[in-house]
Amino acid sequence: MRIAVFSAKPYDETFLAAANQPYGFDVTFFEPRLTRETVSLANGFETVCVFVNDQLHAATIESLAQLGVRLIALRCSGFNNVDLISAQRHNITVVRVPAYSPHAVAEHTLALILTLNRKIHRAHARVREGNFSLDGLLGFDLYKQTVGIIGTGKIGIEAARIMRGFGCQVLAYDVFPNQECEQLGVRYVDISELLGTADIVTLHCPLTPKTHHLINAATLEQMKTGVMLINTSRGALIDTRAVIQGLMSGKIAYLGLDVYEEEETLFFEDLSAEVIRDDVFARLLTFPNVLITGHQGFFTRDALQNIAETTMTNIATFARGQTGPNVITAESAS
Ligand code: NAD
Repeated sequence: MRIAVFSAKPYDETFLAAANQPYGFDVTFFEPRLTRETVSLANGFETVCVFVNDQLHAATIESLAQLGVRLIALRCSGFNNVDLISAQRHNITVVRVPAYSPHAVAEHTLALILTLNRKIHRAHARVREGNFSLDGLLGFDLYKQTVGIIGTGKIGIEAARIMRGFGCQVLAYDVFPNQECEQLGVRYVDISELLGTADIVTLHCPLTPKTHHLINAATLEQMKTGVMLINTSRGALIDTRAVIQGLMSGKIAYLGLDVYEEEETLFFEDLSAEVIRDDVFARLLTFPNVLITGHQGFFTRDALQNIAETTMTNIATFARGQTGPNVITAESAS
């Protein structure tokens, strides 16, 4: 089995090479993202291994099929960047890593909440400059705050467990409420009640046509003034322009993002010597109450090891001609 790994970073090479030891697959690492422009690199490979910002639109999938690719192995859980119907039409199997460490993303969510609230990023910079003034660093107790979790799957439930540990009231909205979550003391409500009641709203549902711009001018209007909004799920759950208006009006008092709807051309690259041409993103960076990380929620040692091991197991299962549990199809995704 020849595998072409796209969007390959040094850490991908380290963890995938270790996970490949028992299998000995022929793995080639390509730094570029998989797009229409780079698809020819997949020539001669049966498997492409891709990540969140690789673009597997219909035309790219058609090219992959023509080049002889039979398997798309996602090394992530989200699959919104893959046209599953096209993959099916071209008889290409798609596998993913549905769970690798929900703790990694839930804990990063908490990191954003605590950093924004207690302004740790600003405090750190001040102390390094010998400025020990506390003006502007005032936070609030998380204890007894109301946290609204949208999407209580693997990550959402861990976020709920953490927030319950802080003594927060936790409300949740999910199209499929989950008993385990209720046993943690989480109360399921409709989305309007959640938005109207929560002091902190955190997004943990997938990006689908139904959840695209779930947070928009109308849903922001329903939120409490001074709300903290956190998105560690997918960028396009949020209409960024509407959120900028919300920051300007004071409706949103804190914004924590690990994902951004136009992140493909920014995240995972060192652009520190370049001009950021995305004006919306550049505007976000000007707010003192906005904290952005570059899609690093998943980025723990434990998660990378699990991702690499599950990816290699998925590929080995396919190589044996078997259908494993991590195959994703248009039907199973709907
Ligand atoms: P999951 O499938 O276990 O849970 C998703 C939950 O969302 C499910 O309970 C589902 O019923 C619910 N849901 C679906 N549609 C909904 C809707 N319209 N409204 C409310 N709830 C809805 O997924 P997960 O493993 O918990 O991951 C959640 C998301 O986190 C992924 O889709 C992915 O986009 C994102 N993610 C981000 C990172 C990161 O590094 N920042 C890493 C992994 C996953």
